[in-house]
Amino acid sequence: MREIALIGCDRRVGTTTLTLALAQLQQPLVLADCDCDRPDLDLLLPGHGEDARRDFFADKLPAINFARCDNCGLCYQSCNREAILMIGQYPDINPAACDSCQVCGLVCPTGAITFRPQEFGTWFQREIDLGALLFARRGFCQENGGRLSAKLRSEGVQLAHERNLDLVLMKGPPGIHFHMHPILDQLDCAVLVATPDKYGKQRLDMQIDLCLDMNVPVAVLINRSGIETTLAMKLEEHCREAGAILAAQLPNVPALLDPEPPRPEEIPELVTALESFWAQLLELTATEAPRT
Ligand code: SF4
Ligand code: SF4
Repeated sequence: MREIALIGCDRRVGTTTLTLALAQLQQPLVLADCDCDRPDLDLLLPGHGEDARRDFFADKLPAINFARCDNCGLCYQSCNREAILMIGQYPDINPAACDSCQVCGLVCPTGAITFRPQEFGTWFQREIDLGALLFARRGFCQENGGRLSAKLRSEGVQLAHERNLDLVLMKGPPGIHFHMHPILDQLDCAVLVATPDKYGKQRLDMQIDLCLDMNVPVAVLINRSGIETTLAMKLEEHCREAGAILAAQLPNVPALLDPEPPRPEEIPELVTALESFWAQLLELTATEAPRT
């Protein structure tokens, strides 16, 4: 079974459209929308019946029982995240600054601090024509998109094993930030999506470096090559020199955020255009040397 993720340089490069098109080349499969900040695949893929829904709990956060607190201030003094303030003589916890290290609970002499799991969001499983779709909604003001992404990925792998499916195809968060790490770890291939312009190249270079540092094979799809043909050719060459196992150009795949988003009738054309790229990608990832 392979785990492959599409990751855009930014939100306007057509990653969602390309994910939908590639999914049609390998169905049935498990699709996972691991871009938990802005999921959109669920808006485009209707389900059969009701979505299965489950709450997601992550870090345990401290809570103070003031009936047992003797206002000694030791928790305040020991918190190196400055997540505890003393309001007058009472400790007060700022959950946004807390990293759940639990030190305050260890130093509290009266056992006034306990830790409770926090609900960070909800994830869903939907049965679709292509197989199964996993997606999530983060809780209000929760900053745990990376863990929710990791949860979707692990659930996707388990589901693929249960159904004997060959592929978990993920749409990862765009750009470069820490949310990418749970997606990239031990991934079979990262398909990076870029456009041929100066900023696209800069972001792509950073993404390629990160993937190769994590020992993840990289393939690149260069969208909108029809607009900047010379730059697109140079970028494709550059990607190969930088270590991409595969690079291909696409003339103009629309993005969901475009003034004219993709129309359903455009997807079959795109699927045909991607057939050769996908066949090569499967071959290259099948013969990939074991990671060190
Ligand atoms: S769990 Fe750690 S970071 Fe959070 S309030 Fe306690 S000491 Fe501070
Ligand atoms: S360490 Fe415990 S007893 Fe002391 S102020 Fe904090 S919660 Fe209260």
